Parts: sequence; structure tokens; C-alpha cells
Amino acid sequence: MLISCLFCKIANKETPADIVYEDDKFLAFKDINPQAPVHILVIPKKHIPSVDHLEVQDKELMGEMFLVAQKVAREKKLSPNGYRLVLNVGKEAGQTVNHLHLHILGGKTLPWP
Ligand code: AMP
Ligand code: ZN
Repeated sequence: MLISCLFCKIANKETPADIVYEDDKFLAFKDINPQAPVHILVIPKKHIPSVDHLEVQDKELMGEMFLVAQKVAREKKLSPNGYRLVLNVGKEAGQTVNHLHLHILGGKTLPWP
């Protein structure tokens, strides 16, 4: 855990969040500023700053993260209508929290981009 990291603090229950899923490796919680009727963030509890910082040993963890997203999306009844998964990587992509997080967006027809 990185002491100064907001999402580490959420994972560590030092900062409150509206948690919708938790297991030993992941946490999913509602985005505080939702961009769609359903907007949930899935994070690994391990502090990884972004996709750009992944290492080979993280590959299984990343596969599991998508299965967590699938589970949460199904629980929120986003399937089979559809949903969007977003990973912002770095400043120009708009990443504002430097702890890897997967956005789940759904509940309406989503504009692109
Ligand atoms: P990104 O722009 O990809 O880095 O996404 C960061 C997301 O975290 C944004 O959608 C924020 O609304 C969300 N966020 C920031 N602080 C919190 C918080 N305390 N609880 C839940 N979501 C948050
Ligand atoms: Zn962190």
C-alpha cells in the first residue's frame, strides 16, 4: 500500500466508499462522480500506478480483474444490454488517480468517444 494513495486508502478502509464487491485481491466501488447511471471502479488492492506500470507477474491479476468486472456488470444487470470498460492511462488520457482502476460504465446507450 502507498500511504498517500487515495485508492489504497479506500482498499484499506481508511477512506469510505460505496463498495459493491470485495475479495482478497480486488475492490469495486461506485464512482463519486458518475458519468453514466451505473459507474463503478474496479481496483486491484495491490498498488499499481497504471497499465503502463504493469509487470509480467501481474498478468494473472489483470485477467482476474476483467472477470471481477464481468461479475459486477452481471450483478448490476448491465448484461446483455452492454457496458463499457475504460482504463485511462496517464495524463493525456485523463488519468487523475494514480492507482490502476477499471471503469465500468452502463445503464444507458453510451456516446463514443
Ligand atoms: P480517472 O480519471 O480514470 O483517473 O478516474 C478516476 C475516477 O475516480 C474519477 O471518475 C473520479 O470521479 C473517481 N473518484 C475520485 N475520488 C473518488 C472517491 N473518493 N470515491 C470514488 N470515486 C472517486
Ligand atoms: Zn494505491
